[in-house]
Amino acid sequence: MSASSLLLERLGALIHQSVREDAARHGLLPIHVQVLHYLAQANRYSDLPIAVADYFGITRGTVSQTLAVLERKGLLVKEPDARHGKRVHLKLTSAGEAVLKESWAERVEKVLDSLSLDANTLDKALREMLIALQRLNGQRAFGVCRQCAHFLAEEDGARCGLTGEPLDTEQTVRICREWTAARNEAV
Ligand code: SF4
Repeated sequence: MSASSLLLERLGALIHQSVREDAARHGLLPIHVQVLHYLAQANRYSDLPIAVADYFGITRGTVSQTLAVLERKGLLVKEPDARHGKRVHLKLTSAGEAVLKESWAERVEKVLDSLSLDANTLDKALREMLIALQRLNGQRAFGVCRQCAHFLAEEDGARCGLTGEPLDTEQTVRICREWTAARNEAV
């Protein structure tokens, strides 16, 4: 095993442990906290139960059970889609957002800020690695909208080239299940 593979393995294990501890503090399972984290970043095409199943590689039944617990605990609500009859969007409540405060992600960000690293270079290397591994595993990439091949910057805002719909600025920094790597993205 190379030094990089070993470091990634250690980082993965540490983050996993932190997620378990965060979850236990709130009387939740790790998957509950992970789903809340995901939904806090997902755009409007991706805050759907099917997208949660795709992102975590879990069954729809497991997703339903997970969402039912989060809903019962008042951590998320289901909002009907105004245009698509049966579709529901999953939104965090303020109690759900509070669970993510001082979580493992905030601790990782603090450490990253304290290191003299080039954030763009690190992001690029990690993203390329993630995309390559997801392809090997046959999973969707779920990238940030602004870095998608379909993202169109326009004079008065932005548009999704796949759906043709305008994108609010706030949506362009979220992750999307329809994300596609740009041609120059090394994979
Ligand atoms: S531009 Fe890409 S990432 Fe953004 S909404 Fe469209 S498909 Fe999703």
